[in-house]
Amino acid sequence: MTDETRPGATEAPVTEGTAAPAPDDRAVARAQAQEVALAQRVERAERAEQGATEHLLEIEEVQTYYGNIAALKGVSLHVRRGEIVSLIGSNGAGKSTTLRTISGLLRPRHGRVRFDGHDIVGMPAHEIVGLGICQSPEGRGVFGRMSVYENLTLGAFTRHKENLEPDYQRVFELFPRLAERRTQKAGTLSGGEQQMLAMGRALMSRPQLLLLDEPSMGLSPILTEQIFAIISEINSQGTTILLVEQNAQMALNIAHRGYVLQTGRIILADTAANLAANEQVRQAYLGEI
Ligand code: ATP
Repeated sequence: MTDETRPGATEAPVTEGTAAPAPDDRAVARAQAQEVALAQRVERAERAEQGATEHLLEIEEVQTYYGNIAALKGVSLHVRRGEIVSLIGSNGAGKSTTLRTISGLLRPRHGRVRFDGHDIVGMPAHEIVGLGICQSPEGRGVFGRMSVYENLTLGAFTRHKENLEPDYQRVFELFPRLAERRTQKAGTLSGGEQQMLAMGRALMSRPQLLLLDEPSMGLSPILTEQIFAIISEINSQGTTILLVEQNAQMALNIAHRGYVLQTGRIILADTAANLAANEQVRQAYLGEI
């Protein structure tokens, strides 16, 4: 049980979304989702004009430890604006540690993490969210005793003075199931719905870079396909994505590029298509003998 779902976990009072349009008001929802996507495109164009670097995220020679144990032993990778980059590898390879290092939950002992021109090592995690990185964690970590709507509202904690209505509608457009269950306690949702809520909550901060940790974990094949289709849709609306997945086949199907991590080191980096065709990857990660 995570801190967030433990009974008695603190729940901040959050106003219910009485002003939100009815869930079946699809035209309004679509228009508002388009509004968010357009705002993100405008932001990207403005940054490009200001000469922002092509690499939204750059990690150089990062070493992250748990006590004396090195989980990352000099990891370097980059993510370009607009990409889906997939990080694949076996259990314990260091995938989650990589994401937690980027999002500021772990501090690397060596190396650099640059995001959108900022050195972010040592920056508090909430400030990193404010810069535009948001992580949807492995195991989901939704606030079980709060409603779907309240969970989404918490995802926008860095944007408290802004109008969030278009963002709720964008999430409800991507995940109609959440719209139907907006007043339901998150702890009573199915595993797939909690996954949707974790992703929706991350989107509420309007991240430039969305970090997804094992979005298909514990989901049926049908739901997994749906989740991956939605990840592609989120990317096509303008959000850059770093995707950690054990389901390497699905991850490489939707990614532009990928990295293979093995015991704390990157052992392969290539386009997703080349990785999917790579003999070593096929044998070790795509279940082929
Ligand atoms: P999985 O898919 O199983 O989560 P992963 O590739 O995400 O695997 P990590 O969770 O990043 O791997 O773990 C990398 C290494 O760090 C592993 O050897 C793991 O046992 C170790 N590790 C992870 N979390 C901790 C922790 N809190 N304390 C000590 N060691 C840890």
